[in-house]
Amino acid sequence: MPETLAVLNCSQLVTLAGAKRPRLGAELRDLSILEDGAMLVRGDSIKAVGNRRDIELLITGDCEVIDAGGRVVMPGFVDAHTHAVFAGNRAGEFEERAGGATYQEIAARGGGINSTVRQTRAATLDELVEAGRRYANWFLRSGTTTIEAKSGYGLTLEDELKILRAIKRLNEDTPMQYVPTFLGAHDVPEEYKSRREAYIDLVINEMLPRVAEEKLAEYCDVFCEANIFSLDESWRILSAARCQGLGLRIHADQLSLSGGAKLAAELSAATADHLEHTDAAGIAALKAASVQPVLLPGSVYALSSNRYPAAREMIDAGLAIVLATDFNPGSSPTPSIRMILSLACTQMKMTPAEAVNASIINAAYSLGRGNEIGSLEAGKRADFVIHDASDYRELPYFFGIEQAHRVYVNGRPVEFEVVS
Ligand SMILES: [Zn+2]
Repeated sequence: MPETLAVLNCSQLVTLAGAKRPRLGAELRDLSILEDGAMLVRGDSIKAVGNRRDIELLITGDCEVIDAGGRVVMPGFVDAHTHAVFAGNRAGEFEERAGGATYQEIAARGGGINSTVRQTRAATLDELVEAGRRYANWFLRSGTTTIEAKSGYGLTLEDELKILRAIKRLNEDTPMQYVPTFLGAHDVPEEYKSRREAYIDLVINEMLPRVAEEKLAEYCDVFCEANIFSLDESWRILSAARCQGLGLRIHADQLSLSGGAKLAAELSAATADHLEHTDAAGIAALKAASVQPVLLPGSVYALSSNRYPAAREMIDAGLAIVLATDFNPGSSPTPSIRMILSLACTQMKMTPAEAVNASIINAAYSLGRGNEIGSLEAGKRADFVIHDASDYRELPYFFGIEQAHRVYVNGRPVEFEVVS
């Protein structure tokens, strides 16, 4: 018999239950909270959700009772945009930027993404898995149970495969659930700078077929930006990825209005990510094509910019917005969705409820996982978090601290040193 758990004494059971599709417009403000709610879990999935009395009636002799201690219980965060597997870090460059150097100056002298590419190429598969395991623990501690993870620091066939294999191992070996994305078109590597066409051929004709054949990725992403991959180059790479059966995501309009949002709409991509410079026409195009925007305020903050994406306009336009960390060693070194919730509420004027829906249920739909995770409903996977809070609004309100009291994946508690 699979183990049975009953979770009782929740100040708020934040279920996010609702229609079987992403939340739009005013729906983003509804969290379907059960005050003093309770939940029954059998094996790896949720059996029943209801008020305390109803769930207590279902408790049998072999059922383990978990007392949430009057805390908030909600689904695990779903981080739909990360670059979570890389070697080394760029704390030295962070110090240089604090001293006034710009991202562009640092890149021009061989730093920036090139420095992470060099270190990641030099690392073995085992070393990458070890580095990734540390970050998986960070994500889990802050209440995140599923992440999308991109390649993109290898930029050779073997090194891109190595990163995707590391993601596969981490998915198997840690409690964290990974959704892998191939991002061979993250940048043109140094050795191809004078012959970029040859690199695009490599991505389309060698990398993509191998990634698809070995089933190492579910999505393909491209960094679409004037000086990185043009609209036309991005279109060619993403069209080839679609032919290989991959879903599409795009780094769009981050540094300039390069047309990435419109391209995402034209290709019916699952998501268009960043969108700091997207205009009203881009927002309308995303709406018409039902593309989900993935907003990444952590990178705006860490780059000392003040140009946050226009979340309110996107919500008013009826877009199913998603919030994510963009965890990476350069522009957004945070694994904390709670920090992102804080930025969404203070800098983008989203309400706490909108931010919670955007970082859980809408994120799950953007990864094709909306029927498995993202809400506490019978039949879904038992990925849930007991937060050290009695009201969900405390999550964006108290910032810069860890609050996950206990984290469960597949109905089992995650083992790590609990701070609270
Ligand atoms: Zn990114």
